[in-house]
Amino acid sequence: MLENEERKSLNFIENIIEEDLKEGNNKGTVYTRFPPEPNGYLHIGHAKSICLNFGLAEEYNGKCNLRFDDTNPEKEEEEYVNSIKKDVQWLGFQWEDEPKYASDYFDQLYDWAEKLIKVGKAYIDEQSAEKIAAQKGTPTEPGKDSPFRNRSVEDNLNSFREMKAGKFMEGEMILRAKVDMASPNMHMRDPIMYRIMHKAHHRTGDKWCIYPMYDFTHGQSDYLEGITHSLCTLEFEVHRPLYNWFLDQITDTEYRPRQIEFARLNLSYTVMSKRKLLELVKKGLVNGWDDPRMPTISGLRRRGYTPESIRNFSDRIGVAKRDNVIDVSMLEYSIKEDLNKKSPRVMAVLDPIKIIITNYPEGKTENLETINNPEDESMGSRTIPFSKDIYIERNDFMEDPPRKFFRLAPGKEVRLKSAYIIKCEEVIKDEKGNIKELLCTYDPETRSGEGSTRKVKGTLHWVSAPHAINAEVRLYDRLFNDEDPDGHKDKNFKAFLNPDSLKIITAKAEPSLKDIKALDHFQFQRIGYFCADQDSLPGKPVFNRTVPLRDSWAKLVKKG
Ligand code: ATP
Ligand code: MG
Repeated sequence: MLENEERKSLNFIENIIEEDLKEGNNKGTVYTRFPPEPNGYLHIGHAKSICLNFGLAEEYNGKCNLRFDDTNPEKEEEEYVNSIKKDVQWLGFQWEDEPKYASDYFDQLYDWAEKLIKVGKAYIDEQSAEKIAAQKGTPTEPGKDSPFRNRSVEDNLNSFREMKAGKFMEGEMILRAKVDMASPNMHMRDPIMYRIMHKAHHRTGDKWCIYPMYDFTHGQSDYLEGITHSLCTLEFEVHRPLYNWFLDQITDTEYRPRQIEFARLNLSYTVMSKRKLLELVKKGLVNGWDDPRMPTISGLRRRGYTPESIRNFSDRIGVAKRDNVIDVSMLEYSIKEDLNKKSPRVMAVLDPIKIIITNYPEGKTENLETINNPEDESMGSRTIPFSKDIYIERNDFMEDPPRKFFRLAPGKEVRLKSAYIIKCEEVIKDEKGNIKELLCTYDPETRSGEGSTRKVKGTLHWVSAPHAINAEVRLYDRLFNDEDPDGHKDKNFKAFLNPDSLKIITAKAEPSLKDIKALDHFQFQRIGYFCADQDSLPGKPVFNRTVPLRDSWAKLVKKG
């Protein structure tokens, strides 16, 4: 893994671009685009494509369009358009001018379709979808010509116009390109250009009842926008000859968008197809597209991921020419690295056990100073109240500890972070033998920051019981408990949903966390990174766990 500063060598796309620039192609400009279909929320795979397209435009002083590939009104919605815009901007990118829409080009595409008909390069096929599929052949066997392949231009034009006018029902006929039924590339075997869909479109309303196929739209959209470098994932490599074929029929300029394919991002422990994510949402297996367990950008945001962490991750994984799987721990590393620098340290106790400091005066409160982030002095300090009654984490105490347990145990001492050294004198239990509270004493000479030289091995986080506030804490874990939930022949990906991916608890938190605002980040000391959820109300904070800190204690205890 290379750090940014070390990443001096160019990736293969940058090499291509630099070569183009050197040769003066496209008048020395770089113009890219990010072309989502608005049929779902964006996921971390899209984030990679966004970082790549907008990133290259930034790097080479170029431009990048946001273009909605909205050719299928059946699945597309305004909600998705808005979420996509929000996500791109949140990642820190801004598109050129207004967002573009493939639907803006419907008139032009229609004219081009007529043009193809007029030069005998497109025809209306009235066969059923099954018939057409049966004639397609296989990669090693040529296809069969449709009996409609040689209709007259006039016939084709009339039918196409009637199709547009709404004279036919869905599936009654389609418009096909007349390319080559024997091509070794299946995409060239007279692909569909237009189909009938009696559906309102989220932007063009009822104007159209025929819609262009993606393959008859994408290359032309790039062309119309003057895109110089059209980056897409590997599966589109075999579509490239078709895009070029269409442009060759309808334009007489030399300019062509240059399509470059790269490997899509795959992440372990994750499914990343919009269709599957939609299924999770629709079936209520998660709480919406922005559920913090989702690999969507909106889910990651709500989980506490920062734009910087996602951009760094995207940089780090680079671009490849072959498919591969990235370990999800790399994504988790990126957020820890970023939050380590940015988040204030605070104290919250997730599973409290009470301590009474028997030699501390009743009713007294001290406000102890503590620094907000040892990684960044400019983040200053704050005070936290200390009193006779304290909460610590239940698993920071053991009645019968193993040898290297440096936390609290009968007769043992620990330091309470930014406060005093305490010693456990007595364990109080209820009738059932469960530990109810611990009686401790404190050493008044050991107040932090006052030059005490006495040292103990363990330091614990804590909160003052009478001052603590209750906080709802949502402990998120990975959504799937299998490395490749989508890769099992005999089982559906949903069989691998992690039943423990969300646990909700009430924690005791220091009072400074009373009024937080959504997306504020914190490190709960010794526990992990947390972020305020949008469900927080004044005085009633709700936190999402972004990632746990590595739990070195658990390991020690195991070793015993
Ligand atoms: P999905 O397969 O998840 O449904 P998609 O490819 O259908 O996604 P689009 O809206 O067509 O989604 O994608 C917009 C852009 O994002 C395309 O250029 C696509 O190649 C790119 N993209 C989608 N998924 C990934 C991924 N996993 N890694 C990198 N780029 C991706
Ligand atoms: Mg797609």
